[in-house]
Amino acid sequence: MAQGRQAPLPPGSTIGVFGSGQLGRMLAMEARRMGYRIHTYSPERNSPTGQIADFEYAAPYDDAAAVQSFARSVDALTFEFENVPSLVAEIAEAEGVPVRPSGPILHAAQNRQREKSMLSQAGLPVTPHRIVSDTEELEEAVFEIGLPAILKTAAFGYDGKGQTRIEPATRLDSAWHSLGGQACVLEAHIDFERELSIVAARGANGDFAAYPLVENRHVNHILDVTIAPADVEPAVAAEADRLARQLCEFLDLTGVLCIEFFCLPGPLADGNSQASRSQSTGRLLTNEIAPRPHNSGHWTIEGAVTSQFEQQLRTVSGLAPGSTEQLRPAVLLNLLGDLWQDGEPDWQALLAFSDAKLHLYGKHEPRPGRKMGHLTVTADTTSEALELGLAARAALNSN
Ligand code: ATP
Ligand code: MG
Repeated sequence: MAQGRQAPLPPGSTIGVFGSGQLGRMLAMEARRMGYRIHTYSPERNSPTGQIADFEYAAPYDDAAAVQSFARSVDALTFEFENVPSLVAEIAEAEGVPVRPSGPILHAAQNRQREKSMLSQAGLPVTPHRIVSDTEELEEAVFEIGLPAILKTAAFGYDGKGQTRIEPATRLDSAWHSLGGQACVLEAHIDFERELSIVAARGANGDFAAYPLVENRHVNHILDVTIAPADVEPAVAAEADRLARQLCEFLDLTGVLCIEFFCLPGPLADGNSQASRSQSTGRLLTNEIAPRPHNSGHWTIEGAVTSQFEQQLRTVSGLAPGSTEQLRPAVLLNLLGDLWQDGEPDWQALLAFSDAKLHLYGKHEPRPGRKMGHLTVTADTTSEALELGLAARAALNSN
């Protein structure tokens, strides 16, 4: 592709990022460290990214003139959340500014229906699902998929928003209307053993690098804790790596991407089983992807040679990915707005833990379920890191 032939952008160049949340903020921090400039674009002012960026454009995403002047102010563009209208990528591309990952990848990731068909085309195993656009189709889909199942809006879901679980007792018309009567995907409920994810990067020259596979624990459908690396059989980790490479190559990706997996329970010890004969363990089902750094990769800031945000900066700039080697076992713990319910958390108690690395995103309103920050703890083992991290987080509300 033409993008691949462009000369890499050196420090001093300006990277534009659509979106202005914590992912853009952490990208901006790495960019500042490495001497790059960052411009952010979103409808928000004094945003988590804008507080760190060199320039904050505050305008609606559908303001074509503003998007055009933003694109003219930067050398390359990326995004930190997927729900940016893909028109912005078209405008930027028309200005001759490379958009990495490319517009079609953004477009596919914006909608669960397109995302699942893209994953299937790439040869990745996805959860059994049906597209539904009215209650009748929902009834048919329930009949075909079975219950329990999860109904998810096709567009604009995050942190478990836009999802509802369907049990045998659930009234289908109320489930349908509770999500606003919009196009949805009905997915079989997967009885997974655990959830895993992998963050990978691919350079404009095709170089591929993936971080170790990690385990994610959710509470109320929101990521609570990530354990890096995941304690899985080497064959499962190798399969995740292979699937990530396969997807990045299929998409001709330039950038960073995360795949979330459901890991199915292991097969009984049977040397003749299908799984042990084929290259695939058959234990990984793809839940969803994000064509950008991911919450489950925040541990890389302290725990890996190259953070996922430096990786984003490198690949968006046309450079090769940096080393994804893990330096120490690490655990990430999210800090949600709920921790503020009785007032300001006890930061001093947290910071008394000398190994806890605190990240706060500069958000003004600590609403329940809102990601306000995170903690990373590295230690000799993941269990030690987890124990320390949980104690440090609990100390925030201990008085
Ligand atoms: P995010 O963008 O924060 O990852 P999301 O709103 O896009 O969230 P999903 O990743 O689809 O949502 O779902 C959130 C969580 O809900 C999953 O990580 C998993 O714990 C649970 N979940 C979703 N789909 C299923 C399923 N088919 N079977 C079992 N659990 C599921
Ligand atoms: Mg998810």
